[in-house]
Amino acid sequence: MPKVTFLGTASAIPDANHQNAHIVIKGGNRVVLVDCPGNPFVRLHQAKINPLSITDLILTHFHPDHVTGFPLLLMDLWLIKRKAPLMIYGLPGVLEKCKQMMGLYDWDEWNDFFPVTFVECPNIEGSLLFASEEIKVWASPAEHLIPSISLKASFVEGSICYSGDTAPSNAVVNLAKGCDILIHEATGNENGHSSPGDAGKIAQTAGVKRLFLIHYPFDRNPKVLLQEAKANFSGTVVVAEDLMVVEI
Ligand SMILES: [Zn+2]
Repeated sequence: MPKVTFLGTASAIPDANHQNAHIVIKGGNRVVLVDCPGNPFVRLHQAKINPLSITDLILTHFHPDHVTGFPLLLMDLWLIKRKAPLMIYGLPGVLEKCKQMMGLYDWDEWNDFFPVTFVECPNIEGSLLFASEEIKVWASPAEHLIPSISLKASFVEGSICYSGDTAPSNAVVNLAKGCDILIHEATGNENGHSSPGDAGKIAQTAGVKRLFLIHYPFDRNPKVLLQEAKANFSGTVVVAEDLMVVEI
């Protein structure tokens, strides 16, 4: 059964119970880590997901709360003797900065490093990132302060859309149409972000069945977040928590 594991649910400022937003999407043999804050090994272990099982890494945008764990993820995978290739997807500017970040650590001198393939995501609505028998993943440009992407993953059993960081966006509505689940950010009324009410509106317009709120300020009352989203959405709303697992 395909599933999503929430490794972190906080907006830019984390606390002990809310790491910065990152999730794992699992379908068949593909284990896809989306974003890379902190040191992802911590939550992966807590979620009982073997870091070596990750096949794909998607970076939605180059803000610190989404990418600072990238060098640590690569270094720790190397230290535990990963041999399998890792696919890394992102917008061209994001991948370039990730390479620069690794360059600061002279990673070309790390002996016997596992194969890494960078795959540029075009800044075009509905770009197919990869497809296997069990999972297909698409990306669309979101509306954030810097270039950022939203994602859709579909399986035989159903589909999910993840907004990433974005203001209310028609591209997200289009991506989420026909999906069972929408995972939408709920930072608040800030430039380049969405409120829980906005997330509810997007979920309603796209016609999804369930809405999960993510990337919310850890100190906001979850009941209030829920109420604000429910005011605009007739389906099920859940405030995602770290280590929550959702089957698709
Ligand atoms: Zn963010």
